[in-house]
Amino acid sequence: MDQQNVNKGGISVDTEHIFPIIKKWLYSEKDIFLREIVSNATDAVTKYQRLQSLGEIPSSDDAYRITVELDKDARTISVSDNGIGMSREELQTYICNIALSGAFDFIRKYEGEGAANGIIGHFGLGFYSAFMVSDSVEIFTKSFTDAPAVHWICDGDGNWTAEPCDKPERGTTVIMHVSDDESEYLDRGRLSGMLRKYCAFMPVEIYFTDADADTDGKESPINDTKPLWQANAADCTEEQYAEFYNKVFSDFKQPLFHIHINADYPLNFKGILYFPRISSEYESVEGQVKLYYNQVFVADNIKEVIPDYLLMLRGVLDCPELPLNVSRSYLQNNSYVTKVGAHIVKKVADKLNSLCNLEREQYESIWNDIRIFVEYACMRDRKFYDRVKGSLLLSLTDGKHVTIDEYLEAAKEKHEGVVYYTTDKALQAQYISMFAAQGISVAVLEKTLDTQFVASLENYRDDVKFKRIDSDVAEALKGDGEVSDQPALTELFKRVSGNEQLSVTYQPLKAQGVPAMLNVTEESSRMADMMRMYAMSTGSSPMEFPLEYSLVINTSSALYQKMLTLCEQAPDKAELLARQIYSLSLLAQRKLSAEELEQFLSGSFSLLELL
Ligand code: ADP
Repeated sequence: MDQQNVNKGGISVDTEHIFPIIKKWLYSEKDIFLREIVSNATDAVTKYQRLQSLGEIPSSDDAYRITVELDKDARTISVSDNGIGMSREELQTYICNIALSGAFDFIRKYEGEGAANGIIGHFGLGFYSAFMVSDSVEIFTKSFTDAPAVHWICDGDGNWTAEPCDKPERGTTVIMHVSDDESEYLDRGRLSGMLRKYCAFMPVEIYFTDADADTDGKESPINDTKPLWQANAADCTEEQYAEFYNKVFSDFKQPLFHIHINADYPLNFKGILYFPRISSEYESVEGQVKLYYNQVFVADNIKEVIPDYLLMLRGVLDCPELPLNVSRSYLQNNSYVTKVGAHIVKKVADKLNSLCNLEREQYESIWNDIRIFVEYACMRDRKFYDRVKGSLLLSLTDGKHVTIDEYLEAAKEKHEGVVYYTTDKALQAQYISMFAAQGISVAVLEKTLDTQFVASLENYRDDVKFKRIDSDVAEALKGDGEVSDQPALTELFKRVSGNEQLSVTYQPLKAQGVPAMLNVTEESSRMADMMRMYAMSTGSSPMEFPLEYSLVINTSSALYQKMLTLCEQAPDKAELLARQIYSLSLLAQRKLSAEELEQFLSGSFSLLELL
């Protein structure tokens, strides 16, 4: 060999610093070495393509590709590309010397800090991550220029040799000699999983070959070089969005809707976000937003970019403005990230508004699935509420949906500014049917979060009050005629109810068949709901909050007249009747306790005997 042509060196100044640090600091995420080496290969190809498109080199029909090859017997993983390649000088500059400046910055800045999750790429040291798993690394490279090919080999202490070699075709092959401690990376399944995770959308076709495996000569790339998020939303079909979601999240439940974002300068990011279909209110709703950097996977579940109330979203974001290697703390304090988050919030709100305005039927069909998140987001973020307030729907007991403003508009005549709601359609059925008979629509607010959401809404707008249907019986069902007072009957009801404090009022109600109803104060029923929710969230046993209520006696009912007569003529029968009427009013409002039920049944039998 022509000894004059052989370079030798040691990345001596840095060696003692860099190598141990690379090995130690990237320990928790060693897998990224493959991403770094493959993405360097991708860069090499795109650089070559760019030169072609600039006309600096003639264009060709070359099939650009990257091959990742596992050779278990030789204990090597190699990554080859037909990209730009390197001359000996370039190799010296980019691979050997870059370490000088990069490593010094790196050490100065981060020495002494805890696990710094892949900051190395910041400093152009990505290539060196190969040493996390290798005893030595070789490079065979041939530049696209006339420069001769070079073979470079570097041991685990940073001592390298570079010499000319015979490599006719353009491009670079990096061979990693896997160390004994890292034999897990010689497993085919392990490597293929890593490629799927990090390289699934890289922009150059990647082929994975295994020296041991029989490929039948059939080859297909492991990646999708043109991921859907790069396409123009106008060119994508619903099927494509669904298919992409299924593939990326292995979730075969169709998402409820998607948002394709293509933010221009200065934000400059693309992505597709999906609102997943969640089967139950209590299902874990942690979504997953994957962060990419020019189609290279960076991180899963980036809580730092998306506000916590939108964390059930799933999807992909490609942010070329962020460095490939970012730490969580970097994301947390970055004004660009904050702007991206704000843009996403805006896009989600825009999407809800456009569904509500333009695809109302579809919006209504998904409302019950999304409302808990929309409501929560509104409670957490006033700005989000302001954006979507026109698209907040109420589900009515008859299955219809109306916006809050539509509801208020319809209510103008009968109950201006009041939204009536039920927290339990089955339990409060009697109230619902009485309200329906008066042409009053009732919204269903049965979810645990609803009471709090209602409180926020009342806070946000002062032209609306929410009232549970059993809280406003006296007002909503008020009939014609005078309000009266019957002290003797009141005493009787206090006695049969066992509640000396019971408040009893007398007024005509527009519900002739119903002799009496309970009117529960809104404050106490909300308090009770809150206590129930609190108990649920803390896992403690629910404490029943005592409801404040009054018994409204319907003076238009025939039974009221009957009671008055019986009070005078047959006090025993009057008592039996009052007891039953009181039980029935309880029954229409809530479940009876065992004791109350027993009393109700025995009273009913006594009544039947009178027939
Ligand atoms: P970074 O990619 O962050 O610049 P690296 O340490 O990964 O840092 O790589 C240093 C440089 O080495 C690259 O910028 C590139 O110029 C060169 N390089 C690395 N891998 C290849 C390759 N496969 N083909 C051509 N050049 C490469």
